Amino acid sequence: MSKEALHRDVVILGSGPAGLTAAIYTARANLKPLLIDAPADAEKQTAPGGQLMITTDVENYPGFSDGIQGPDLMIEFRRQAERFGTDFLETWISGVDLSNRPFTLHTSDHLISAETLIIATGAAAKWLGIPGEAKVPFGFGGHGVSACATCDGPLPAFRNQELVVIGGGDTAMEEATFLTRYAARVFVAHRREKLRASKIMQQKAFNNPKIEFLWNTAVDEILGSKEHGVTGVSLRNVKSNDQRVFPCSGVFVAIGHKPNTDLFKGQLEMDEIGYLRTSGHSTATNVPGVFACGDVQDSVYRQAVTAAGTGCMAAIDAERFLDHLPVAMPSGEEVTDAGEHITSDHRAIIEPDGSMIPNNPEQLVGSED
Ligand SMILES: Cc1cc2nc3c(=O)[nH]c(=O)nc-3n(C[C@H](O)[C@H](O)[C@H](O)COP(=O)(O)OP(=O)(O)OC[C@H]3O[C@@H](n4cnc5c(N)ncnc54)[C@H](O)[C@@H]3O)c2cc1C
Repeated sequence: MSKEALHRDVVILGSGPAGLTAAIYTARANLKPLLIDAPADAEKQTAPGGQLMITTDVENYPGFSDGIQGPDLMIEFRRQAERFGTDFLETWISGVDLSNRPFTLHTSDHLISAETLIIATGAAAKWLGIPGEAKVPFGFGGHGVSACATCDGPLPAFRNQELVVIGGGDTAMEEATFLTRYAARVFVAHRREKLRASKIMQQKAFNNPKIEFLWNTAVDEILGSKEHGVTGVSLRNVKSNDQRVFPCSGVFVAIGHKPNTDLFKGQLEMDEIGYLRTSGHSTATNVPGVFACGDVQDSVYRQAVTAAGTGCMAAIDAERFLDHLPVAMPSGEEVTDAGEHITSDHRAIIEPDGSMIPNNPEQLVGSED
């Protein structure tokens, strides 16, 4: 059976805050974006609407003084993108070819070509897979279990409580340190007797009087009840195998994140974890015409508002590119869709045939005389 062919100026991957914001902007710019989203899949942690679909209270998204439920916020994002004419397609992409423009994307039913591609596929928190960790009603996820201290730490349920952070890397130290602003005490459970975190992050945590370490300790289960949420964890000393119940009111799993970038391996530049590398001055990746926004390119901030912010940037970058204007690349150069390169010092333009012309307005005016 032949596949349906689709061609678009802008194709967006992912319908979290980043992808939907890019859709709102490019749809309002009359670019008729096609937004492709992965179907809901618990194992791959994908869901139309993105990560906020699996949370309850969002208290820090500007514009909602009383807070808003994550899924309700994402319904509003989607309605706004639909209002300006975004087309949606919910399917898995089986392959992408970014070697030539238009770029090609394959699904089981479609062959899609895209003049520009905005990647907003997000990142998934890594979980341990232990009993009690899954989302309510299967566990206490959202009712005492979290993977984001910035998002959930300030919630009333965690204030002045004893909390457990699981992990031994930079993420765990950062989460533990942040949580001490609200919690009575924070216990870091780590399987080894040494941390993997950088020296400076370790030192900050060791110096914090509210943080205590549970060394050689594995968390085997998160305990609780429907009424109270998390009430404790079942701990095991990995050396002696001794088990004990440790009371606490919240658990923050902080063992890292995995950006959803497997599709682009070998085609786009990534850091060692797999986050897409973008220019510091734009959302451009190393392939001209491919932009990345939101958590897929952000291992630092990972918030809905920053994802939406970079989604806006990616849309404006794609618009500029389609208007044949230069866009800043990770190398510091700027490129146009015609293949012109403006050097990082802005002094020269290298044409596609390799010839170099000055980028100095006065010299250009002079050369016309
Ligand atoms: C439990 C929880 C609570 C949170 N609470 C808050 C909070 O209170 N405040 C806050 O600011 N932030 C919060 N965050 C963080 C926030 O959700 C993220 O920073 C934000 O959602 C990132 O947006 P994004 O658009 O980059 O990616 P995501 O929201 O992760 O969306 C990614 C999208 O890409 C899709 N996708 C993935 N792979 C593919 C693929 N191969 N092809 C096509 N589509 C794909 C997914 O289905 C999804 O639609 C929370 C996160 C979690 C997990």
